[in-house]
Amino acid sequence: MTDQNDILFERARAVIPGGVNSPVRAFKAVGGTPRFIQRAQGAYFWDANDKRYIDYIGSWGPMILGHGHPAVVEAVQKAVLEGFSYGAPTEREIELAEAILALVPSMEMVRLVSSGTEAAMSALRLARGATGRKTIVKFEGCYHGHADALLVKAGSGLATFGNPTSAGVPPEVVQHTLVLEYNNLQQLEEAFALHGKDIACLMIEAIAGNMNFVRATPEFAKRCRELCTQHGALLIFDEVMTGFRVGLHGAQGVLGITPDLTVLGKVIGGGMPLAAFGGPRAIMEQLAPLGPVYQAGTLSGNPVATACGLATLKEISKPGFYEALAQKTRTLVDGLKAAAAAEGQPFNADSEGGMFGFFLMNELPQNYATVMTTDNAQFNALFHGLLDRGVYIAPALYEAGFVSAAHSEDDIAATIAAARDIFSKR
Ligand SMILES: *Cc1c(COP(=O)(O)O)cnc(C)c1O
Repeated sequence: MTDQNDILFERARAVIPGGVNSPVRAFKAVGGTPRFIQRAQGAYFWDANDKRYIDYIGSWGPMILGHGHPAVVEAVQKAVLEGFSYGAPTEREIELAEAILALVPSMEMVRLVSSGTEAAMSALRLARGATGRKTIVKFEGCYHGHADALLVKAGSGLATFGNPTSAGVPPEVVQHTLVLEYNNLQQLEEAFALHGKDIACLMIEAIAGNMNFVRATPEFAKRCRELCTQHGALLIFDEVMTGFRVGLHGAQGVLGITPDLTVLGKVIGGGMPLAAFGGPRAIMEQLAPLGPVYQAGTLSGNPVATACGLATLKEISKPGFYEALAQKTRTLVDGLKAAAAAEGQPFNADSEGGMFGFFLMNELPQNYATVMTTDNAQFNALFHGLLDRGVYIAPALYEAGFVSAAHSEDDIAATIAAARDIFSKR
């Protein structure tokens, strides 16, 4: 065995379940050996064999500036010398909170935490605490981290309560979670008609990035807002992926909808463990130490992570940043579409800001069930073909892709050429 990735994978599997610390890294869906990454710079990372890849996962979203951006590295190095963690408040937490609130007008106050899972779970508890209600509404194919109450799939029939998607989650824990089909207006109406007075919150990825890339239609998003308002439920936008990724003001900026609570992660940490949730002052003041809703964290607002997040937000706030990123992402998406058309490959793709998705079918899916009709074997062949050619996309067909400011026109052109070559050999 001379492949260094194989050697590391064997070692990893002996000591870490499946050899990975987050399941989708394991290549279980696509087969083969995960690449163990040894370093990264700009739009690239290098595996244990020193093979270079153009990186379209960007740590699953955070690396919007590319890897090793000099201003971010400098900020982190400076912070590290001042101490790793104090367990006492710092000025930098205020600075980051102020920066976030200035960019997301629906938020008047924010609390910093360490992961998207933690932020979504805390927002959910806050919504239940603030409304005094139990029921939560979520959509099939939206991911909000791995808190028990959110690991649910749809039950049988319309607007029914869900079933756990993980062992270790008792049915009782998800008995208050309603799981609806994304973009299905009729189910949405029915759920609120039946359960409206019990609904604490509706949580949604308004541009979904965990069932590949699927937009809520403008009518659907608008109706979510109206029904929540009408029934006294809180609308929670989970923008862990879309926040500062699809645009400077997130999916709420793109759609022009004001949620009650917003959940952030990924980009706001710039690659460090940092996430947040926030909303109107009256709701946020329900949190401990002011209010009765408990929430806490040893490493929350960590001084190194906040330095990384602040430096990242400063760069992405520069004029023209998102216009350039969106243009680059569109060039990729349009190029892939043209390559597929030239080779007779059924294909469609979409993007917003620096986030994209493509489908090996002619339509753009509107929900999870349609995404999952993708031909697995075809996707896996494309994935491995790209990997061989030095292009790293997410190793599962239900994940979105990410372009960073560091990707060059040559990187985009090389990616399109690689895809066309694979389509032609089908
Ligand atoms: C990634 C993600 C999460 C979970 O964040 P972690 O930091 O992985 O815990 C939650 N919601 C959405 C929309 C995400 O994309």
